[in-house]
Order: sequence, then structure tokens, then C-alpha cells
Amino acid sequence: ARYAPGMLRKVILAAAGSQRVERLVEGAPVSRNLVRRFVAGNSSDDALRCTRSLSDQGLAVTLDFLGEDTVSPEQAEATAGEYLRVLDALHAAELTPAAEVSLKLSALGQVFDDKQAYEHARAICAKASEAGTTVTLDMEDHTTTDSTLEILHRLRVDFPTVGVAIQAYLRRSEADCRELAVEGLRVRLCKGAYKEPESVAFQSRLDVDKSYVRCLNALMSGPGYPMVATHDPRLIAIAEDRARWFDRSADEFEFQMLFGVRPDEQLRLVDLGYTMRVYLPYGTQWYGYLMRRLGERPANLGFFLRALRSR
Ligand code: FAD
Repeated sequence: ARYAPGMLRKVILAAAGSQRVERLVEGAPVSRNLVRRFVAGNSSDDALRCTRSLSDQGLAVTLDFLGEDTVSPEQAEATAGEYLRVLDALHAAELTPAAEVSLKLSALGQVFDDKQAYEHARAICAKASEAGTTVTLDMEDHTTTDSTLEILHRLRVDFPTVGVAIQAYLRRSEADCRELAVEGLRVRLCKGAYKEPESVAFQSRLDVDKSYVRCLNALMSGPGYPMVATHDPRLIAIAEDRARWFDRSADEFEFQMLFGVRPDEQLRLVDLGYTMRVYLPYGTQWYGYLMRRLGERPANLGFFLRALRSR
């Protein structure tokens, strides 16, 4: 069957928010193969093992404990606790500073108590700093952007290496990038993975890509530390070109990709002398993460269906 890619993306992203579909998919035996391709495993031991293997290949890592849309303070507390433990474990295993952690504020309760989410994030930043590494705040749907940036600025007072993701598909992002292009600020530029209305986000691939390049220019021309998070060969080539144009050496920016996506390209960029950081999720709550990956690439859907058939 033929699908219009934009349409398919919408359907899959709608499924990403559906608890009924979630129960169906999680119940299917499918999922193991597909999950293994994109997720380190269920436990922090799996995460450490995978981090070590990536690090042995010259890749840097940002570790993400899967979980979002936390609905209770207890759940937020448990997530924060897991981050504190895994940071200790990374430190003990001498995997810092090669590995840092990525944090979804929604998993710390941002939606119902942003003060508490800030306190948890602060404790995690303090632990990361003790462990000799740092934290990057993921960016989620557009209703959380202002709150996330506000929390970022508060955290940076004591933890200046904390970074943040910016989504090129948001109309506001070019302006945000100009403001965030300040000394030492680590900004991860990605296209954006959520379903957003036209009022706030560019809808066509071309418009998103053009915005990505404008954001990239703003970041590369400033004194901050750009983290170019994309698998898109054209944007990677443009980032290399801009780095040369703005006279940035290989240690003044980095590339980032998701675990399991274009692994050969990840190693090619390492061979060229760039820092390549792999976003490595682990944990049992992989559903939302995986559905966003499927929405990005119908080819992954084929992989998913083949895995189903082979059972
Ligand atoms: P796409 O438009 O998906 O793909 C562009 C091109 O890249 C394709 O045409 C193809 O040539 C190539 N490509 C893509 N995937 C593959 C593949 N599987 N195999 C081979 N070629 C491929 N989103 C958020 O909303 N918030 C975040 O905090 C966030 N953090 C991220 C962190 C990292 C490190 C990365 C890499 C992504 C993150 N994302 C985040 C997701 C991001 O927003 C995009 O949804 C995702 O990266 C897909 O966009 P893309 O840039 O790869 O381009």
C-alpha cells in the first residue's frame, strides 16, 4: 500500500498518544526485536553495557531513562532516583565524561508541578556534576517550551554546562536560538518529533529544513556550543560547511544521532575527527519513544511488521 508520508506520520503520532494502541503493541511479542534495535535494554546494567560498547567505538553517549508524562509525585521521585543511581554507576564505571544524561522534565512531573520538577532536575544536575559530567534537557511538546527554558536558565546559574534541545519545526525557534547563542551554552538542534499545530510549527519538510538551517546559522555564528542532532545527510553537510565558515574547530561543536539510526554514518563522522554523541534510551517505557521513531520513517514500520510476521 502507498501512503502519503505526512499522513502516515500523523496516524502514527496519533497512535503514540493512544493508550489503547499502547496496550496492544506492548502486549505483542513483536516488540522485542524492534525495541532492541533502538533501546539499550530494560535495566541500567543494559544501559551501562551498551554505553561501554559505544564508547569503545569512539562514540560519546547521552543516556535517557525512558518515561514521560509522569502523573504522580511518586513516579517523578522514582524517575529522579533512577537518574541519580545511573549517574553514580556511570561514574564508578569510569564512563564519564564520555557519557552525559538527557532528561525529560515531563518525567519529573513538569506538567502538574514544575517547582518539584525543577528540584528533581537540580538534584540530578548536582549529581552529574559530582560524577564529572552534565545534563541536557530534552524538549517536548510546544506547551512546555517556555517552562523548560525557564528551568534551564535557573539550573545554569549553578550548573552552567546544562544544555537544552531546540526544535527547528517551531516557528519561535530561530529567535530562541539567537537568544541561546551565548558563551558556553550547549544547544541541541533537532527537527522536532511531536505532532504540532500549524499555528506554532512549520508543517512541510522543506520549511522545517529551512528553519533548521537558520537556527544552525544562529548557533554556529555565536559563542555557544551547538549540538547538531540529525540523521539528515544534507543538514550534516551544511553543518560541516558552516563550521568551516565560522572557523569552528572539531571540539567547538558536535554531532548527535539516535542509537540504532545510521550507525555507519555515526562512525564515519568519528573517523573524520568529530565528536558524535549517541542518544541512548533505556528502560521499560519505550512505547512513546518507539512510536515517534516509527512516525519519522515508514521504513521502520516495515521492520516492525516483518518482526510481527516472523513470530
Ligand atoms: P528526518 O527528516 O527524519 O530524516 C532526514 C533524512 O535523514 C532522511 O531523508 C534520510 O536520508 C536520513 N535518515 C533518517 N532516518 C534514517 C534512518 N533510520 N536510516 C537511514 N537514513 C535515515 N526531538 C524532540 O522533539 N525533542 C528532543 O529533545 C529530541 N532530542 C533528540 C536528540 C537526538 C540526539 C536526536 C538525533 C534527535 C532528537 N529528537 C528530539 C528527534 C528529532 O526531533 C527528529 O524527530 C529525529 O531526529 C528525526 O529527524 P532527522 O533530523 O533525522 O530528519
